Amino acid sequence: MKNEPLIGPDVPTGLYINGEFRDASDGGRFDVYDPATEQVLASVADGTIQDAQAAVDAAAAAFEGWAARTPRERGEILRKCFDLFSAQKEKFARLMTLENGKSLTDARGEAAYAAEFFRWYAEEAPRNIGEVSKAPATGARILVQHKPAGVAVLVTPWNFPAAMGTRKIAPALAAGCTVVLKPASETPLTMLALAKLFEEAGVPKGVVNILPSRKSGAVVGHMLKDPRVRVISFTGSTEVGRKLLHAAADQVVTPAMELGGNAPFIVFEDADIDAAVEGAMIAKMRNGGEACTAANRFYIHEKVHDAFVEKFAAKMKALKVGNGLEDGVGLGPLVNAETRDKVARLVEDAVKRGAKVVTGGKRPDGKGFFYQPTVLTDVPDSAECLHDEIFGPVAPVQKFKTEDEAIRRANATEYGLVCYVYTKDLSRGLRVSEKLETGMVGLNRGLVSDPAAAFGGVKQSGLGREGAHEGMMEYLETQYISAVW
Ligand code: NAD
Repeated sequence: MKNEPLIGPDVPTGLYINGEFRDASDGGRFDVYDPATEQVLASVADGTIQDAQAAVDAAAAAFEGWAARTPRERGEILRKCFDLFSAQKEKFARLMTLENGKSLTDARGEAAYAAEFFRWYAEEAPRNIGEVSKAPATGARILVQHKPAGVAVLVTPWNFPAAMGTRKIAPALAAGCTVVLKPASETPLTMLALAKLFEEAGVPKGVVNILPSRKSGAVVGHMLKDPRVRVISFTGSTEVGRKLLHAAADQVVTPAMELGGNAPFIVFEDADIDAAVEGAMIAKMRNGGEACTAANRFYIHEKVHDAFVEKFAAKMKALKVGNGLEDGVGLGPLVNAETRDKVARLVEDAVKRGAKVVTGGKRPDGKGFFYQPTVLTDVPDSAECLHDEIFGPVAPVQKFKTEDEAIRRANATEYGLVCYVYTKDLSRGLRVSEKLETGMVGLNRGLVSDPAAAFGGVKQSGLGREGAHEGMMEYLETQYISAVW
């Protein structure tokens, strides 16, 4: 198995199927790059349809045994995953910075967040609780139980290489399902490194399979035709999510879809402006803006607009841009040239339409897919960045006058993942939150992600929830037994 020195020999680069690392059936491989240097980090096995078949076979063969384990046993193995991951957090953080580009601060935050899904679902595994009741008309007993659905196919994006995987694997395993996970081709190394940890924690062979592949459509499409696959859990763009929903329909597979966002960030005239600026830095700049939850449109009340922009732009300008591995760097590169070029194009479009650049607005010269932290004001409604996911360090700011106007503009999108609201008036905060067409609201907070909370969107931001008890329910099927005794 070929390994490049940059990532060290302890990071596997093969497909992980039935507890073993192996080459692709046709020997194919693809390169993974460091977005800060544009250097090749590793060459990874490129899974084929035959490999996908082998992975589903392994997961299906392991299903009965894993589902038959007691919830406590499954929980204890997940708890071991938490302990092992926590002990190696720094190693995982560095690996994520290398393959994704994010700053080490962000990567450390992600490692801690990713680990918590193991702890939460270690505790949730025993809480698969059914119900018994009496049918009102006949008196027959109604027994309701939740059974593991079967093999789950999991597809993850590149922006959170660890957390988007553990947020699916942990609840699936807690429920008693077995899985095949296809990581994003930009960032497959973190999940492959995680595979070794599962082995060490005592996860039986075949329960978790990791299948990197550049032929995503063909490989995932093939797995969804297999009747043993009962769940498709996808995190990624709405465009790909729609395709997978079509494919899932053919076998009536349960879909869980965490899709794109276009988060509004609303600051009312009565808000604590310093707190709003702190929150904006997190909501916009966590992960360099490459988050589905990233604030994408800033609506600031006209009375506090200038004060907010001045403080926010100063903080954005002060962020040190550079290789995420270096000390003090607050913003690493974007994941690849395509993402960086899209960000640059959206800024050019806004400026052409009349937006003003308060800070940033340029891609630095030299190697690496960097883009400056950018604040735009006077952005016209027609600017593409208000309608498209920016997925980069760019904050378009607009003014508003009334509460109704803020709500109307926040809701004027096909997305509905999250909205951030800043106000000191709690009754206004809750009133506005209820009127927002989003799955989540950050009220005086710039961060909503929490393993203990149901994460997910409405409208075209998705179906289903991850985290909390709801996250485990995605991998369970409800059976009701009508009985008399
Ligand atoms: P993407 O949709 O391009 O890819 C996501 C995954 O799907 C990758 O593993 C990719 O290889 C795979 N894929 C691509 N085409 C496929 C196909 N035809 N069939 C099956 N799989 C396919 O998304 P991305 O660029 O990796 O990630 C960014 C997107 O993810 C953004 O839209 C972001 O908002 C979204 N996202 C959403 C959440 C959430 O929880 N809602 C979290 C993180 C990212």
